[in-house]
Amino acid sequence: MCKKGGPTPISAFPTPISAFLQMIDRSSKYWTGTEAADLDEYLGALTSESYPADRIIRASCVCGQSVFALVVDADEGCAQRACTCCRRTHFVCDSGEYWEDAEPENFVCRCGSSSFELAVAFSHGNHTTVKWITVGNRCTKCGILGSAVDWKVDYEPTAHLYNEV
Ligand SMILES: [Zn+2]
Ligand SMILES: [Zn+2]
Repeated sequence: MCKKGGPTPISAFPTPISAFLQMIDRSSKYWTGTEAADLDEYLGALTSESYPADRIIRASCVCGQSVFALVVDADEGCAQRACTCCRRTHFVCDSGEYWEDAEPENFVCRCGSSSFELAVAFSHGNHTTVKWITVGNRCTKCGILGSAVDWKVDYEPTAHLYNEV
């Protein structure tokens, strides 16, 4: 019953950025994208000045769909997604560890919609472990690309985080 399209393939960096350039509209105040893949370029550009992301993984539910409601605490730095199809909830990466202290709020797009495609950008710097996580979101109604929340990772090992997007 959750079959509107095929499952969204999870892609890791590097993605040929030039392939997406023409699909992103940068002419308006906010970047907009036409599909989840546009998050890759957006997150690459967003993090380039601070903690350049070198691995980006798009979120998909175990049911195969990839449109989510998002609950975040931008101060605490954590996020939970809920599949708009099967309603399963999932903590983004290590967010579950911080949820008790968080004051999570529903993330809503400027257009009023709360359905998003999501991707997580991992920044390693010169290290082999993850140092920074940036959550990217694309509104499935108006296409605006944004980042609801990002946070620091200061422990090791971190390889499990790739599987918890
Ligand atoms: Zn689902
Ligand atoms: Zn929107």
